[in-house]
Amino acid sequence: MKVYVRAPYKEECLDELRSMFGEVVYEPWTETGERYYEDEMLEHLLKEKPDILITELDRVTEKVLSGYDGLKAIGDCRGTPANIDVEACTKHGIPVLCTPGRNNQAVAEMVVAGMLAFERKLIPAVEWTKSGQWVKGTTPYYLWMGHELMGKKVGIIGYGRIGRIVAKILAAFDCDVSFYDPFVKGDQDGFHNISLEQLFKESDIITIHVPVLDSTKGIVTRELLKSMKPTALFVNAARSVMIDNDALYEVLKNKEIAGAVIDVLDNEPPETENDTRFIELDNVLMMPHICGASFEVTDHQSEILNSGLRAWLDDDKNMLEKVVFNKELCK
Ligand code: NAD
Repeated sequence: MKVYVRAPYKEECLDELRSMFGEVVYEPWTETGERYYEDEMLEHLLKEKPDILITELDRVTEKVLSGYDGLKAIGDCRGTPANIDVEACTKHGIPVLCTPGRNNQAVAEMVVAGMLAFERKLIPAVEWTKSGQWVKGTTPYYLWMGHELMGKKVGIIGYGRIGRIVAKILAAFDCDVSFYDPFVKGDQDGFHNISLEQLFKESDIITIHVPVLDSTKGIVTRELLKSMKPTALFVNAARSVMIDNDALYEVLKNKEIAGAVIDVLDNEPPETENDTRFIELDNVLMMPHICGASFEVTDHQSEILNSGLRAWLDDDKNMLEKVVFNKELCK
């Protein structure tokens, strides 16, 4: 069989694909430039004639699948296959394998880095130093004095893959970690399972790690934001749609809370005043949606997808259930 790899992939995993399937053509989007949209994708599939496509960004639509009917499986190096028309794949009998959890560690580490950077005023202190303002005396020590994480109450909304890693890292800082997750019963791993109201009222740092669902949209309400401590920090590296952003802007602008670390906006890159208003605030540490961006993600996605493709070859239904997105094809 022939595999056409359009996602960045670990060298050893490419070798493993060769031993599993035979031929591998490696043309990741990172080397060819950008993603392939519909017509380009079809053109390249017709040229390469692969049995398996491994992608990350390319658009795979009904037009692509009806123009080229040689695909037996698609691997998508993403948690959810947003670039793929899964319904069309199901119609054509093509399983779509994903890589859930490929950037859990990357996100969790960056979330904690954001907390540390904010609490220790790291970024403005570095900018101040670079701009030549460091003079003799004790000024920097007092000007850039910040807060430690040790002993702080941290509330995690969503005790899933990322939330659990954040909790584990923060436990090593001796933080007092609690979480809110209605789908997790009781306390877990020594952390208290508390109500959302209690979490907002009592935490020094709040971080959200829930998926976008109808039930999670707007879960962080004005009332909850208004109930935060004036010294508290709010962190969002999940998605913007979960937050009442007008209320968040208001509490930040009016200094009703200490600040926010934000990795996600409604529009990325920022388009409207509703996006740019957060960037302009001096108590917001804004990142350009990079929490999940680590070099190691390539290794993780390659390893996760290869074990999924191995299960597909072996028809291991239990394993396939975990990685195939169109589960109706696993039966
Ligand atoms: P996950 O599915 O492993 O965990 C989500 C948790 O949220 C689950 O435990 C679930 O029970 C819980 N949950 C569901 N509904 C809830 C509710 N109403 N209230 C509280 N908890 C609820 O997800 P994950 O892999 O940990 O990802 C979490 C978030 O991180 C997602 O929004 C994802 O889009 C985002 N993410 C961001 C980046 C980035 O670069 N910033 C990268 C990857 C993932």
